[in-house]
Amino acid sequence: MKNNNLKILIAAAEIAPIAKVGGLGDVAGALPKALVKLKLDARLIAPFYGVIDRNKYKIKLIKQNIKTGHALINLWQTVLPDSTVPIYLIEHNFFKNKKIYSLGAGGEPKDTERFSFFSLAILESMKAINFLPDVVHLNDWHTAATAALLKNDYKDDRFFKQTKTLYTIHNLANQGLTDSKNYMAEGILNADLINTVSPTYAKEILTKEYGAGLENILAKRRKQLYGILNGIDIDFFNPTNDKLIKFNYSAETLEKKLANKTALQCQLGLFKNEKTALVGLITRFVRQKGIELITEKFSKLNCQFVFLGTGEEYYEKALLNLAGKYPNKFKVLIKFDEKLAHKIYAASDIFLALSLFEPCGLTQMIAMRYGSVPIARLTGGLADTVNNRVGFTFKNFGSLKFYKALKLALKIYYEKPKAWQKLRLNGIKQNFSWDKSAKEYLELYKKLKNLKK
Ligand code: ADP
Repeated sequence: MKNNNLKILIAAAEIAPIAKVGGLGDVAGALPKALVKLKLDARLIAPFYGVIDRNKYKIKLIKQNIKTGHALINLWQTVLPDSTVPIYLIEHNFFKNKKIYSLGAGGEPKDTERFSFFSLAILESMKAINFLPDVVHLNDWHTAATAALLKNDYKDDRFFKQTKTLYTIHNLANQGLTDSKNYMAEGILNADLINTVSPTYAKEILTKEYGAGLENILAKRRKQLYGILNGIDIDFFNPTNDKLIKFNYSAETLEKKLANKTALQCQLGLFKNEKTALVGLITRFVRQKGIELITEKFSKLNCQFVFLGTGEEYYEKALLNLAGKYPNKFKVLIKFDEKLAHKIYAASDIFLALSLFEPCGLTQMIAMRYGSVPIARLTGGLADTVNNRVGFTFKNFGSLKFYKALKLALKIYYEKPKAWQKLRLNGIKQNFSWDKSAKEYLELYKKLKNLKK
């Protein structure tokens, strides 16, 4: 039985694992699997980028020469790996090159042009294959134009008479700007309902501090604005059977984490000592992530730091500088490395999430799943997932506030082992699965279906 016969089409610029750059891809790849468990008919649509491996994913042509504006497109189909979720892929010259995003350099079409075309192609493809969604679930500015098209150009199109739109904001900082348009604003103004990826961030973006210039537009839609926390892939991030770590463990065998710690200390050339607190950080090294809060005075603390990430040269250099000066305290690894990331989650006692702003944030949740205690700045999704039952928090964005929080954490780590164990167990027992978030999306979809046009 399908749930209320709800048919959902999720449109996104990225879908993990077939075409992923960041968190947007993770969400698009994980949410529909959880929706299918709730018996919804959920399907995905994305551009057919040159990077997508046609053979690996057994992609088949299903419809040719669909008229889209003045152009023609072909529609291809595959399924989301490890699921039954159909993925439709739109083939057009705009998407042929090897990159998912394009800067419009060297005469290439700009992303605003590519994705506004994609937004139109979404609607024409659905008509061509006669799939009538109850809700088109749009994600970030790339698909925002679809909401505007349904409200304007397609207003009298009988095919989409019942179709509603949900617009999910993953990153308010990227707005899709042209001389005359702001696609993010267009999505916010035209979608039937809007959500962002945590309850706290949904409130914060109504303020000047977090609104990225769109706070007034968002305020107009505040009654239609929701916050739903992202989940994490609890099968991929699972210390009990994670193949990327040396020693598997669970809430019952947390002491085995120590073997992962000493293994990582040896691998990275830090002093091997199972008692020394290991502090991890895995992130993009950019302003958003609060890298500037980590300064030389942290070298005085009785712990070892392991930082993994890539990003802006300024922040990479600042961290490498610390590692150069205090090689026994700081290890800084500038690369994207999934295996090392898992090893750090498994090895660390403490995990940092210092963001200036954070729509949701996944690393703090993954860290807790691996029994690592987070220290988080109280903002966005960090405020929704970290509290003093599971970790340590600080409110004002400042190095001293962070320093005090870490000092307190170390004191409890070294002097109050029982209290420390309680924090770790509370964290590891939390449920960050997509199943929970998918139920909240289901409620929004139902609300949309019952909405009068
Ligand atoms: P973002 O703002 O980058 O989306 P999130 O916390 O939402 O931040 O998600 C980051 C994800 O990327 C996490 O799964 C994290 O483990 C992973 N990640 C970030 N940097 C690296 C890296 N250098 N190597 C491996 N994984 C990384």
